[in-house]
Amino acid sequence: MKPQVIVIGAGIGGLTTSIRLAKAGFKVIVLEQSDVPGGKLKQMQLGPYRFDRGPSLLTLPELITELGAMAGIQKSWTYTKLDSVQYVHFEDGTFFSSGSSPEQLADVLSGQNLAAKPQVLRFFKRATRYYQTTASVFLKQSLHKPRSYFNKTTLRALMRFPLTAVLSKMAGRNQTLFKNEKVQQFFNRYATYNGSHPYCAPALLNMIPHLEFCTGAFFPNRGMVSIPQYLHEAARHLGVEFYFNSRVTQINQWNQSTWRVCTSTRDFEAPVIVNNTDVHFFYTRLAPQLKYPHRFKVAEKSSSAYVFFWGINRQFKNLQVHNVFFSKHYKQEFDAIFKQHEAPQDPTVYVHISSKICTQDAPYGHENWFVMVNVPHNANQAPVGYGKELRQRVINKLNRMLGVYLENHIVCEAHQDPFTIETETSSFGGSLYGNASNSKWSAFLRHPNFKSSAKGLYFVGGSVHPGGGIPLCIYSGHITADLIEKEYAL
Ligand code: FAD
Repeated sequence: MKPQVIVIGAGIGGLTTSIRLAKAGFKVIVLEQSDVPGGKLKQMQLGPYRFDRGPSLLTLPELITELGAMAGIQKSWTYTKLDSVQYVHFEDGTFFSSGSSPEQLADVLSGQNLAAKPQVLRFFKRATRYYQTTASVFLKQSLHKPRSYFNKTTLRALMRFPLTAVLSKMAGRNQTLFKNEKVQQFFNRYATYNGSHPYCAPALLNMIPHLEFCTGAFFPNRGMVSIPQYLHEAARHLGVEFYFNSRVTQINQWNQSTWRVCTSTRDFEAPVIVNNTDVHFFYTRLAPQLKYPHRFKVAEKSSSAYVFFWGINRQFKNLQVHNVFFSKHYKQEFDAIFKQHEAPQDPTVYVHISSKICTQDAPYGHENWFVMVNVPHNANQAPVGYGKELRQRVINKLNRMLGVYLENHIVCEAHQDPFTIETETSSFGGSLYGNASNSKWSAFLRHPNFKSSAKGLYFVGGSVHPGGGIPLCIYSGHITADLIEKEYAL
């Protein structure tokens, strides 16, 4: 008999591990503090407007479909490939639609004399090489098991490893390749896809645009929230038991082979537990008796976000699903976030409008705006005080760049900030992606998917290997499930 497994948290990582383990014959129980699955990936209704509250950018959707297929559910999960990954606006009036392939982006940038086509194509050739040589080693297996290094795939990948991309910085590399600052800024922004500082992060992160432009950017036809809903259904189909509104308060190993997990209403016991909450929260609140390894404790955290949700009483033909309004002072923006630990004076503003695809998300003729600014994670863990001022800065910027008076068009609103993100999901200081990738060692500064000194204790999700973001959390779920399956193979 395979042992019972308790998964703490129904985020993307927890859901993936549950599906994989249930499929392999484990009895799986999921304890989730919220009343719905998804963690950071939740939805909200404001009058007639629906909003996804967390992620909005989707790549590698096949990873989600595969999990549903693995569970054998009939219901399909559908998504649309975007014709243009994003609309990009600069303060001097420069605007471009990025297209959805390296070729299209290269045509757009060369057409506006921003970059030569061969340079853009060279960037993507390199990005693809980075992805192909590193993904199998760094994203799809544990970095903390010797066996990961002694196999043909890893050895071959290590021989072709782009070491200079780890030793050089993303922004420096992009400056060498592109003269135009706007093009540098466009590619540097990809560091924010895992909450990092483009002027500190290694050039290896230049692999991220490979995903959006070479494999595709997508949006689910029923909103991002359909992802956890689909995975939840897949898990239930395989017999996973979910206990919602069950906040775990304490975890103890009460004999060598059993863990006791306490919630406010009852206790659960199992030989194997998988923690899907932030590792910082786990060590400081759930299991303070376990040693919190120093190098993970002090590792720099990723940025957080301030998000405004606005019901807008008109439509904007010059906007699409993903829109970026760049700051004039890009380095200062990231220095403010990571060095001064304050909200930037001139933030880059990201406006996501799901109603461009999911028309039911806003009344006819209206739009639902998710307006996000990168801000520092909130180490003080107290409500942030800059919200009102930041809102005004964002409105002023959008008014200036779109030539409108937005105050006349916002008919209802809400917001979420680092404090609320932490309160609702337990992520330390509201950091979106666990640790930042600002160091060349960052891949090794994420907590392993297991704890060697505590048998039966495993970890999954954005704060552990291989990192945050939907695809990586899914990979994390596969790695953790693989480790458990191997350890408990009968
Ligand atoms: P989490 O989502 O962190 O979930 C952890 C779960 O544990 C939660 O359900 C929580 O309620 C539960 N939990 C916590 N404490 C307890 C407890 N004591 N007892 C029981 N349950 C508990 N990623 C992308 O790929 N693309 C994007 O565009 C993107 N944008 C983002 C924008 C925002 C505003 C945010 C917040 C995140 C964004 N991300 C994005 C990051 C992405 O959402 C996360 O990396 C990913 O969802 C994290 O999944 P996870 O498995 O780590 O679990």
